[in-house]
Amino acid sequence: HDTLKNEVLAKAREAGVKFIRLQFTDILGVLKNVAITIEQLEKALDGELMFDGSSIFGFTRIEESDMYLRPDPQTFVVFPWRPREGGVARLMCDVYNPDGTPFAGCPRNALKKVLAEAAELGYTMQVGPELEFFLFQVDGSGAPSLKTHDRAGYFDLTPVDLGENARRSMVLTLEEMGFEIEASHHEVAPGQHEIDFKYSNALDVADKIVTFKFVVRTIAQRHGLHATFMPKPVFGINGSGMHMNQSLFKNGANVFFDPQDPGQLSKDAYHYIGGLLKHARAIAAVANPTVNSYKRLVPGYEAPVYLAWSGRNRSPLIRIPAKRGMSTRVELRSPDPSCNPYLAIAACLKAGLDGIKNEIAPPLPCDRNIYEMDEAERKELGIYSLPGSLKEAVDELLADEVIRDALGPHILAKYVEAKNAEWDQYRVQVHNWEVDKYLTMF
Ligand code: ADP
Ligand code: MG
Ligand code: MG
Ligand code: MG
Ligand code: MG
Repeated sequence: HDTLKNEVLAKAREAGVKFIRLQFTDILGVLKNVAITIEQLEKALDGELMFDGSSIFGFTRIEESDMYLRPDPQTFVVFPWRPREGGVARLMCDVYNPDGTPFAGCPRNALKKVLAEAAELGYTMQVGPELEFFLFQVDGSGAPSLKTHDRAGYFDLTPVDLGENARRSMVLTLEEMGFEIEASHHEVAPGQHEIDFKYSNALDVADKIVTFKFVVRTIAQRHGLHATFMPKPVFGINGSGMHMNQSLFKNGANVFFDPQDPGQLSKDAYHYIGGLLKHARAIAAVANPTVNSYKRLVPGYEAPVYLAWSGRNRSPLIRIPAKRGMSTRVELRSPDPSCNPYLAIAACLKAGLDGIKNEIAPPLPCDRNIYEMDEAERKELGIYSLPGSLKEAVDELLADEVIRDALGPHILAKYVEAKNAEWDQYRVQVHNWEVDKYLTMF
C-alpha cells in the first residue's frame, strides 16, 4: 500500500495537481465527489477522511452518518481538460464504516464481493462495454433539446455531423486518461454515437464506465452539445444500449475458449450462458433500471426482447461473437447506459457463476430471427421475453435469490424502494399519448 500511495503522491506533485476529487457512486450509480486539496491527499490515501453519508442516496440514516472514503490508488487520473497549473485529479473510493468494515451500501464493495466469489474458483471477470449515447443541441438558454444537427447514418463519414468533432475530442481525452479506445463511430440513429474501449477486469471497467459518462458529458458541454445516456430519448428511432461483453480468465487464459468443442466454447461458457438466461429477467431490474429503459426493449430497433442466444444473428439477448481465443466472449445485449455499472456487472457475474456452479445447461441456440416468429412458435420453442416494464423487472428481482444476493440486503432494500417510488411517480402521470388517444375519443 505504501508504495502505491507514494506513487500517487509523486504523480500528483509532478502533474501540478491542486485539487483531488474523491469519487464514489450512490446506489443508483450517480457519481458523487468530495473535493480535497493536495495537502489532504496523504491523509485521504490513508483512508482517514470522513464525510457525511446522510446526504447520499441510499447510504445511511442521519444518526449514523459518518463514513470513511478509502481511495483506490490504482484509479488516480488527472483531468486533461483542466489547466496544467492548479490541475484537478480524481481517485475512485470504497466507502467504509467508522469501525473499519466495508459499508454494505457501497456499490463498488458489492461488486468486489461477487468478484471475490469468482476468485475463489480461480476466475477473474473481463468486461468490454459498448456505450451508446446521443448528442443533442442546447437552446439559447442552455437547456438541452431533442434536436440533432446531423443526418449521418451508421459508419457515415460525411462532414455534416457537428457531433464528429465532439466525439473526436472525447476519444482523445479518454485516451489521455488511460482508456484504450478500440472503435468510435456514428450509430444508426441521427445524433447517436458509440465509443468502445478495450476490455479489462470487471472493477477497472466499472470505474471506467462511470468515468466515461462523466467525460463524455463534460466534453459535449465544451462543444455546446448535450450528451445523454438516457436509454430511449426519442420514440421511433433506436435507443442507446450498453452491450456487455464478458468472459472469465484463469491464469491469464480465457476459460470460455475450448478448441475441441464444435462451437469452440467450453463447458463453463455454456453454463455461464445458462445462468445469464435463467436470471435475465431479474438482471433487467439492475441493467435496465429506469421507466424509460423498457421503451428501448421493444421489437424493431435492434434491442433485445426475447430470452435466447445465438452465435449467428444479432437479434437475441445473448450473442456469441465469432472471435475465439482470447476474444471468446458472451455478449449480453440488454444493459443500457443508465445502469449502475457496479451493480449491473455484479448481477451478471453472479448469474454466470450460478450457471457454472449448478451446471445450468442453456437451451439450444436460436439461429432464426425470433422477431419473425409468431407468439405460438415462440411458445413452442420455450422463448420468453424480458420484462415489459420497470415494475415487472423489480418484481422479478425480488423473486430471484441469486440476483438479490449480488446486491446484498442493504442495497436491495434501498434500490427496490427507490424503483417502486419511480414507477409510482410515472404511473400516476397523465402522458401526452393518453391525451392524444382519448381526449377526442371519449
Ligand atoms: P460489436 O461487434 O458487438 O459491435 P464491438 O467491437 O463494438 O462489438 O465491441 C466489442 C467489445 O468486446 C470491446 O469492448 C472489446 O474490448 C470487448 N472484448 C474483446 N474480447 C473480450 C473478452 N475476452 N472479454 C470481454 N470483452 C471482450
Ligand atoms: Mg459495437
Ligand atoms: Mg463493432
Ligand atoms: Mg452499437
Ligand atoms: Mg455489440
